[in-house]
Amino acid sequence: MSGTAAAIRADDATVGVLHVHSAYSHDGRDSLEQLHAFAAARGIGFVALTDHAEDLSADRWDEYVARCRDASDERVQLIPGLEFRFAGYTGLHLLALGLSRWIAPDTPGAFIAQAREAARFTIAAHPILAHYRIPEEVRAGIDAIEVWNAAYNTRYLPDPRAIRVLHAIRRDRPEVVGTVGLDQHDARNDRETRVVVPASARDPLAELRAGRFTNVGRTMRFDARVELGPARLGALTMARWAFDRVERAQDRLARALRGRAASS
Ligand SMILES: [Zn+2]
Ligand SMILES: [Zn+2]
Repeated sequence: MSGTAAAIRADDATVGVLHVHSAYSHDGRDSLEQLHAFAAARGIGFVALTDHAEDLSADRWDEYVARCRDASDERVQLIPGLEFRFAGYTGLHLLALGLSRWIAPDTPGAFIAQAREAARFTIAAHPILAHYRIPEEVRAGIDAIEVWNAAYNTRYLPDPRAIRVLHAIRRDRPEVVGTVGLDQHDARNDRETRVVVPASARDPLAELRAGRFTNVGRTMRFDARVELGPARLGALTMARWAFDRVERAQDRLARALRGRAASS
């Protein structure tokens, strides 16, 4: 396990962040201009936005795209995109990056069909939230699985179960890749997961689709296929188990302390 975001050399690579919410999301804090400043300060060349679809509309979409364009420059590209959820599919959130038009799919299958034409790159976000149940139509059409969502339980390490989901899908569809995501709602809290594409790349999302990128986080880096090998995947599973236990213990402690404060 080696390599951190800080170790990326900007002269031979373009660094990007995926799964970022702006103030267009009800739970997002940052304006597009603030996200530009966040990226510029860190040498991040592109921000793949994924605002909640239910917080936008066809009308606001056009304004959003125009404002992304206005807030972008040669240093930082803000790429419009949306995160979709679906009635009857608890926890299944699908990301459409680089959307060229407003879409309003009401099922995961409709998402796959509509995003195929309207989006540049699609990701099944934080599989843990859907208890790793990815519908067949999504497995058959998605471009990527988010194997490390820095906002969820996997703050410090990728999710070995999500990696196994990816590997299972790749047996039929070897073009599907694994990505890291910030799931950022507040730029004051940078959890440091990055994707790195070649500096010569004109179109970062095309590089993601083609698997020409490296995932980088606080504790490790890996390629698009996420082929860690059985030993490393085993070690990751063990480490995850330990981290989760610590987090659960901290949650219990926090609850206990809150309870004490409330009763006093
Ligand atoms: Zn989500
Ligand atoms: Zn999100």
